Amino acid sequence: MKTDFNTEMLRTLGSSSVKVLMHCCCGPCATAVTERVAPLCALSLFWYNPNIMPREEEAKRLENLITVARFFDVPLIKDGYDNEFFTDNIKGLEKEKEGGKRCDVCFYIRLKRTAEKAKELGFDYFCSTLSVSPHKNATLINEIGKRIEQEVGIKWLVNDFKKQNGFKRSTEISSELGLYRQNYCGCAYGRQTEN
Ligand code: SF4
Repeated sequence: MKTDFNTEMLRTLGSSSVKVLMHCCCGPCATAVTERVAPLCALSLFWYNPNIMPREEEAKRLENLITVARFFDVPLIKDGYDNEFFTDNIKGLEKEKEGGKRCDVCFYIRLKRTAEKAKELGFDYFCSTLSVSPHKNATLINEIGKRIEQEVGIKWLVNDFKKQNGFKRSTEISSELGLYRQNYCGCAYGRQTEN
C-alpha cells in the first residue's frame, strides 16, 4: 500500500512541535510545500539565494515569498544577497548545462547556509523546497542534504516534494495568489528552462 506523503513526513518529524527551517528557492515552489509541511511541525521559511541574477530578480522573487509567508502565517528569515560568493564558487563551471556540476555547487552553497542558520537558531531539522520542481533531482538534493547534516551537525529532512502532485499544487496556489512565475532557474548561465 502506498504511504501518504504527510503520514510519512509526520513519522519522520515525530511531533508537531519539532522546529524545521526550510530553504525556499522561490515563492511559487514554497506554496505547495508550505501547505504540506506547516501543519506537521513548527515551520519557518528561509531565504538565501545568491545564485539569482540579476539583483532585481532576486528582490522580485523575495517579494513573492513574503506573500506566501503572510498567506500561510509562517515566519520568514531572510539572509543577504551574496552573489560574489556564488560566482567565486562556481568558477570554471559557467558552461555546464542546467542539472550539471554547477547546480551541485549551487545546491550545496544554499543548503549549507540553511543548515548553519538552523543550527545557530536552535532548529531540529533543515530542508528545502527545491525538490518540488520537476527540473530538480530529489536524489541528488537528498544526498547533498545528508552530507551537510554530517558536516554541520543538524538533521536533514529527507524529501521529494514533487510527489503526489506537489508541482501541480504549487501552480494552483501560485495562480490563486497571483504570484509572478519566473521562466528561468536563477543564475545567468542557466536561463533556458523554467524553475
Ligand atoms: S541553473 Fe539553477 S540550480 Fe543550476 S547553478 Fe544556475 S541557479 Fe543554480
